[in-house]
Amino acid sequence: MSDNLLLSVENVKKYFSVKKKWREQQKYIKAVDGVTFHVVEGETLGIVGESGSGKSTVAKLILQLLTPSEGTISFKGKNIAQLSSSEGKEVKKNIQTVFQDPYSSLNPRMRAKDIVTEPLLIHQKLSKKEREAIALQLLEEVGLSREHLNRYPHEFSGGQRQRLSIARAISLKPDLIVCDEAVSALDVSIQAQILNLLKQLQRDHGIAFIFIAHGLPAVKHISHRIAIMYAGKIVEVADREEMFTSPKHPYTKALIDSIPTSDPFQRKERELIKGEPPSVIDRPPGCPFHTRCPYAEEICRSKEPKLEEVSKGNSFACHFPLNIN
Ligand code: ADP
Ligand code: MG
Repeated sequence: MSDNLLLSVENVKKYFSVKKKWREQQKYIKAVDGVTFHVVEGETLGIVGESGSGKSTVAKLILQLLTPSEGTISFKGKNIAQLSSSEGKEVKKNIQTVFQDPYSSLNPRMRAKDIVTEPLLIHQKLSKKEREAIALQLLEEVGLSREHLNRYPHEFSGGQRQRLSIARAISLKPDLIVCDEAVSALDVSIQAQILNLLKQLQRDHGIAFIFIAHGLPAVKHISHRIAIMYAGKIVEVADREEMFTSPKHPYTKALIDSIPTSDPFQRKERELIKGEPPSVIDRPPGCPFHTRCPYAEEICRSKEPKLEEVSKGNSFACHFPLNIN
């Protein structure tokens, strides 16, 4: 991991307009509402938040499948909204993705060798022989082998299919791979194998990852830093150790406390987070978490806390943070 900035996301918002009735005021779903974070070369940033908190929208904005309503996303120092077409092509090549559902994201009528090498064809011409050789290399890189070259997606298990998606994602030698719930659908033991594969690829090729999940356990072992999202906002971002040993935001603490432990003597009363997140259309003023926060006071209902940095790379947005001496 180096200190070179790869991706920076600054105050990015994505609002979707809600279908309205005649004369009704236009309302917006504030899916992502002023998000700021960065990724350095070769690191893994985990993004965690419950369903609907805006994680996939963030992923789609970075992958340029959506354009921000506000804010800027820069890759290697350049605003991706202002690139020439050749620069834009280069950035798209450098940011790849692995989605959650390997059933719908892989073409069922294509053989493994064609699936993993398809992205290359946009950028270069390959003979049949060259294509097959590269396919084999890619399959081996992700723990598959020659016997898998001619198989179709339905002939693979869920874990193998995710390996295939990863092989496809690395075919263009990207600097960054966005994994949106990439292991959420897999059994825990298979999840661990895929996470190990991603770590291996990071060690071998210095690839940076944005690793999105709805719970902390999935990102705990793979992330160098973790960002916690709540209702379209980042409420805390910190180094992994710092986050687990001294969470600042009550929501982060609640997420940590809700991780089941296997040791019965360690098991404490699980403090589950009660209630529902606020509506993303008519969010009440103040802190987005105040409706569920056990520590909320008057100011939390009226004034939104800004994300502030406590130490290098560690920030939180809370009026009454925990673990601050
Ligand atoms: P997550 O991945 O954390 O579950 P999403 O980014 O998918 O969250 O969604 C965040 C919010 O934005 C949700 O309320 C979702 O319904 C809404 N949303 C996402 N995409 C669209 C869209 N294309 N149009 C309207 N609303 C959307
Ligand atoms: Mg999602």
